[in-house]
Amino acid sequence: MTFCRVLCIAVIVLIAQSALSSERPQSPVVASQLVSEIGFLHEAQDTPLSLEAARKRFESGNAQSAAHSFLTFGIGSKPVWVRLGLDNPTDVTLRRRLTAAETWIDQVDVYQVTSGGLLHHWQAGDAKPRDRHLLPAVGLVFDVDVPPGQSAIYIRGQTFDPMTLPIALLSAAESRTHYMLTQMAYGLLYGILLTLIAYNLLLYRTFKLLSALAYSIYIGSFIMLNTGYVGYGSYWLYPESPQIQNYLTLLLMVLHGICGLSFALAFLSVKENLPRVRRAVLAYMAVGLVVIVPLIIARNQLYAATFAFGYLSLTTLVMIVLGVLSRKHIANANTYLAAVLASMIGVLATALTVWGAIPYTHQGYHAAEFGVVIEAVLLALILGKKLKAIETERIDAQYLSSHDALTNLHNRRSFLEVGNKLLHVAVRKQRPMSLVLIDIDHFKAVNDRYGHQTGDRALVHLARLLMDNVRDGDIVARWGGEEIVLLLPETTIDEAVFFAERLRTKIASTPMVAGHHEITMTVCFGVASRKKDETLDNLFGEADRQLYSAKAGGRNRVEPHAPLSAMKASA
Ligand code: GH3
Ligand code: MG
Ligand code: MG
Repeated sequence: MTFCRVLCIAVIVLIAQSALSSERPQSPVVASQLVSEIGFLHEAQDTPLSLEAARKRFESGNAQSAAHSFLTFGIGSKPVWVRLGLDNPTDVTLRRRLTAAETWIDQVDVYQVTSGGLLHHWQAGDAKPRDRHLLPAVGLVFDVDVPPGQSAIYIRGQTFDPMTLPIALLSAAESRTHYMLTQMAYGLLYGILLTLIAYNLLLYRTFKLLSALAYSIYIGSFIMLNTGYVGYGSYWLYPESPQIQNYLTLLLMVLHGICGLSFALAFLSVKENLPRVRRAVLAYMAVGLVVIVPLIIARNQLYAATFAFGYLSLTTLVMIVLGVLSRKHIANANTYLAAVLASMIGVLATALTVWGAIPYTHQGYHAAEFGVVIEAVLLALILGKKLKAIETERIDAQYLSSHDALTNLHNRRSFLEVGNKLLHVAVRKQRPMSLVLIDIDHFKAVNDRYGHQTGDRALVHLARLLMDNVRDGDIVARWGGEEIVLLLPETTIDEAVFFAERLRTKIASTPMVAGHHEITMTVCFGVASRKKDETLDNLFGEADRQLYSAKAGGRNRVEPHAPLSAMKASA
């Protein structure tokens, strides 16, 4: 891969990284100047804790202090309580926007408590239709008026999905910047991916390249999945249907895995190279659907979420195994592996961050998105390369079918095709056109004396001489055997005869060197020109008759003879 391409990818990733890097506050301190501490605890009982009970537990020192404002507890977490201790040192109430939870959290309760008691209680979560607290790509947000002095915010989150509470308390200006940058980053991400989809659909339409279609669907499924879990789906498309938000993402995770495998099968030509492996992969793809669909129908969100996460991670591994197995068979398997590895590491890093297995960093949290961009660009580059190979093959095949393998001149079929078109134009525009038929004199003798191979070389020698001396636009074709035909547009009979004379002299005075021998060839020319609206056949017949008289006239001749007027004019 060229340096330029690598640079391109690096720039794209850097832009996305820097756009996303300012997305989230990094520590409790940055969460807001007003937040003095963040603590959390899990509900132990099966019955939900009341606010009062939760407050007591925090006050009796049962809570843990958060090292980070981005809290992750993984899938299947018990409901979590988070307490933000607030300290507003000013003497005015400050309006702040609280981000309390990721968009996929089923139920979130936010309580604002002052020394006077409960000030406010908000409820949100993706179990609620048309949740006005949902801000796509940001989370569940609440506008809080922080009074002067000490107060607290309690957040209770409950979900079957990964429990992810990206706590932030930002001023209007900060949250606006944060929102804009987030939207820009996602706009950039979707823009890159949609461009790649369009490019690949075009490849598919033009070249019927099946892997390009599979690839478009694969990237499309990522966009759908991403818009689903980031919250654009429930914000724009299905705000009334919390169940869709709950289950669609899980279904899309499995479908994305299946689309990835379909792409891998098509791209790596697994059907041709590893038929048994293909059957196993097809079975694995079927298992994905057979398991996730009943879990969704049974509304078993916890198992469905666990399965979807596990299936997607395992699928990337399967894609890697396919790449490794295909290395022998497929030219670009290494780049494919690098691409899939980038996306796998990304998905894994995001999954581990969401699960809480590794500490939150914005790079880790968005690694799946960075990974998929790297993967998409790398795969698009290999598809482009594949396409170039197909195009080269097509051009080669076209050349071979229209040119003579020995002399590289046009073959008879190609001559008729091009010649007829040129003659039509000449007739329509009433322009002159000439046809010259050439036959080597006593060529049998060359073969007999020096061998057939040398005869072949003599033909190549003659072809090159002719090609070097014709004008652009003239057609030189091997009619068959040692007969060559020239079609000369914009050439009158006088000019054609004069040109043939020049060629005759040139050929007779340019011997071919074969070992110690110099073989001098002579040729006869039969020339015919368009008078009215002859066909190529008529012209050819006339040139053939002229050639016959040239042979009969003693060889090394042009027929008709050069008219004196033409010789003089060009001398
Ligand atoms: P003339 O002056 O009457 O044209 O005599 P000639 O020997 O050239 O006779 P003719 O044109 O009838 O013979 C064509 C010969 O060209 C016969 C064949 O052996 C030879 N020939 C045709 N195609 C090839 C080829 O591809 N390679 C070689 N080495 N010889 C060829
Ligand atoms: Mg002949
Ligand atoms: Mg001959």
